[in-house]
Amino acid sequence: MTPQKRPFSSGPTGTPVTESIIQSIRDFRGTGISVLDFPHREELILDRMKAFDSLMRRIVGISDEYAIIPFSCGCSDHFNLWITNVLRVGARPRKIAYLRSGFWSDKALAEAQRLEKVGECEVSVIEHADPQFRSLPDMSYLQMRRPLDADFLYVVANETTQGVRLPYETITSNLPFHVVADFSSCFLEGPLDVSKYGIIFLGAQKGLGPAGLSIVIIRRDLIGQKDNPHVPLSKSYAVQAKEGGLYNTPNFLAIESVCLMLEWIEKHGGLTAMEAQSKERAAYVYGAIGASKRFYAPVVEAARSRTNPVFCPYELIHFEQFLSFCKERGIEFVKGHRSAGNSLRLGLFNGKPMESVYAFGKTLEEFERTA
Ligand code: PLP
Repeated sequence: MTPQKRPFSSGPTGTPVTESIIQSIRDFRGTGISVLDFPHREELILDRMKAFDSLMRRIVGISDEYAIIPFSCGCSDHFNLWITNVLRVGARPRKIAYLRSGFWSDKALAEAQRLEKVGECEVSVIEHADPQFRSLPDMSYLQMRRPLDADFLYVVANETTQGVRLPYETITSNLPFHVVADFSSCFLEGPLDVSKYGIIFLGAQKGLGPAGLSIVIIRRDLIGQKDNPHVPLSKSYAVQAKEGGLYNTPNFLAIESVCLMLEWIEKHGGLTAMEAQSKERAAYVYGAIGASKRFYAPVVEAARSRTNPVFCPYELIHFEQFLSFCKERGIEFVKGHRSAGNSLRLGLFNGKPMESVYAFGKTLEEFERTA
């Protein structure tokens, strides 16, 4: 018998959202017409674009001081775009400090260093004590304990590759610089005080919707007004904020998918409920790994990600063996990021049923007995 498939990647499996997306493709909101056939200036589409904005504001608690802009591109594009949009051309090059925390902060840093070469910004780096990024970076800049010679501090709230979560709830208000945060892999894992940030961005593919859609939440006073000819108008924060993401044809199917997921979250208790479930899933998984004799969680306890726990085999032989063992039991996509060597990783995003999490635990236990 084929086992039930339990993917541990980041789609909305485990929620009825996948079915609702399919339904939208067949018959969008009872119109008898596929969403793919709708012109993007139709009233129904405009209504759903408004719904996207109001759901985000209501669920997360985002004030009108911020613009919420959907973009038809990945989160990586914003590693460049936030600088070229916000650090205006002609102004003195503004200083950005990058808090190194893992793979994704380094990717963003590399992009900033390219722009530094052409005078668009000045970059400094807050180094990490651990070259493998298995602990927390220096958080004192975010807690008002140390001065920082920069206008912006760039952080990654959850390092998806290493499985490291910044305890971002401890970030204090009114810091003497703007915090720019990549929330790609932990947005909506629990309550978030947006007012502490200048800019938040994320790719939708981690638990919200399809890849290729990114969302920027930016305090309106930071939106660059001066036209930078190096930024396409379709990627201009000012233009798209003004046009509500409709300067050009949006990836509406992806936006609708996010709306459906947001509606599901709201219906299931909002971010307080999501946080409780996220903690429960993570506690179970780390408990199971902690009890294992074959695998260990390399990240120190205070830094462990709730949405994507990473674990490693003590002996290399158990890496491929365990992957095949999981696959035979329907546990799919638990291989870690290609840059993190022989590591394994579980995506525990919103909607991942406890049933699947228990099935993983059972598989691990069974493997321990047989391997
Ligand atoms: N930032 C983080 C934390 C990620 O996990 C990822 C990858 O999924 C990205 C950025 C890159 O996103 P994209 O592939 O949409 O460019």
